[in-house]
Amino acid sequence: KKAVDCPPNSGVLGRASWTLLHTMAAWYPDQPTAEDQQHMESFMSALARFYPCTWCARDFQANLEESPVPTSSRKELCQWMCEQHNLVNEKLGKSVFDCDLKNLDKRWRKNTQDPECKTSGLLH
Ligand code: FAD
Repeated sequence: KKAVDCPPNSGVLGRASWTLLHTMAAWYPDQPTAEDQQHMESFMSALARFYPCTWCARDFQANLEESPVPTSSRKELCQWMCEQHNLVNEKLGKSVFDCDLKNLDKRWRKNTQDPECKTSGLLH
């Protein structure tokens, strides 16, 4: 173990942020209320404004303008988040992720197939 907990770099911040964002999308309501939808929209625009990696935030803001966050269902939100993440993956030369909802749910919501995942995913 390291002697000190250092402030995050863009990689550490990014992994933690994507975990929150994909998991939040995974548990977003299938039929959100108008209020749910407004809050999700505000959350994403605040994120684009305050994301503390400035060059990441600049691109994210532009992507958000190009493709506004769809808030009318869980499925659309999950797939949009996946596409946003893939834009960054492409920019960094990483492989893209399969944005099929089943695949996203297995990674971010519930995985009952893999024994290693049996004790996780107990958020709801
Ligand atoms: P990450 O990319 O953090 O992925 C973590 C896990 O998510 C992966 O192991 C995989 O299981 C899963 N995953 C991968 N792709 C997807 C997907 N499309 N959908 C769902 N799940 C997926 N870094 C920069 O250097 N420059 C930037 O401009 C930049 N912009 C960013 C913008 C935002 C909004 C965020 C949240 C992060 C940004 N980052 C940026 C950080 C970058 O995306 C990575 O988080 C960081 O490089 C660490 O990468 P990683 O390989 O550990 O995995």
